[in-house]
Amino acid sequence: MTARILSGKEIAEAIKQEVAEEVKTLAEKHGIRPCLAVVRVGEDAASAVYVKNKVKTSEELGMISEHHHLSEETSHEELLKLVKDLNERDEVDGILVQLPLPAQIDEREILETINPEKDVDGFHPINVGKLSQNQKSLVPCTPAGIIEILKRSNIDIAGEHAVIIGRSNIVGKPMAQLLLRENATVTICHSRTKNLAEIASQGDILVAAIGRAGFVRAEHIKTGATVVDVGINNVSDEGLAKELFGEDELEKRLNTIAKRGFTLVGDVNPKEAKAKAANFTPVPGGVGLLTVAMLMKNTVEAAKMRRNGKWKTESGK
Ligand code: NAP
Repeated sequence: MTARILSGKEIAEAIKQEVAEEVKTLAEKHGIRPCLAVVRVGEDAASAVYVKNKVKTSEELGMISEHHHLSEETSHEELLKLVKDLNERDEVDGILVQLPLPAQIDEREILETINPEKDVDGFHPINVGKLSQNQKSLVPCTPAGIIEILKRSNIDIAGEHAVIIGRSNIVGKPMAQLLLRENATVTICHSRTKNLAEIASQGDILVAAIGRAGFVRAEHIKTGATVVDVGINNVSDEGLAKELFGEDELEKRLNTIAKRGFTLVGDVNPKEAKAKAANFTPVPGGVGLLTVAMLMKNTVEAAKMRRNGKWKTESGK
């Protein structure tokens, strides 16, 4: 079997196009231009790339964006004050504080201070609670993007057995809630799961969000399954690359390692997944591309819900 590759590119582009149209309608009919404020603290290289991409995309889609870049030495109180100011400003619809934050900052308090109505990452406990109670809310972007990939690729979810490896607050747990909402039968596995391969290989849909390059092997995959690879790992070892990639990709990957020092690899062994699964999301070019697109969609949703008072009605406030 050679798996169908579920490219995130076309799906992400389609979502961004839909968002751009909605932004245009909001401006023309209601005089609203959604505004996303992105906050970055310190000099983490990956965060700099992610934030640049988020700001650029929001501008391309016709939104207003603000980039607040604070120094590595920023105190907890200073960041808290910025978040509170952004909460107060009526024209700001979405607030995103890029993680990780420097050690002196209490990440939890910062995330809990963001007004849940502006919490476009969907990490605030109010949004987490609403998701688990099936209420309309702002949903974490990566798992929401995975649902879009599955639906727009016409992959059945209802009644299927979905197995998720990973139980983080940003991927594994919200993924489980969203798949449950779509009527899948859901199993969550983690580092303490016994007989992981036996359980994972029962999944019609297998989502890997672990953070270990090529961890998911043929033994974890049911023949004909849909395998969603969330992982983003840097691999610089040529020997490992040879284990992970077949003839179709190996040369390109080895060239990338020679040129950049590493190549991006997911949590699934792509060579084995392609041979056993029916559908497979590549890394790069799969789930990662959806995350930014869903952030844009969340910002427009936040603008609509907050500005027309719908949020208040639905939360009963
Ligand atoms: P995380 O917070 O480190 O969580 C990893 C999860 O994997 C934990 O629940 C852990 O179990 C589980 N795990 C670790 N080793 C395991 C093992 N040997 N067997 C079974 N389970 C194991 O990571 P995360 O934030 O969810 O991210 C996961 C991956 O997705 C990372 O590679 C990250 O870079 C990537 N990611 C990608 C995107 C994107 O846009 N594509 C977005 C977010 C994250 P315990 O809970 O028992 O420790």
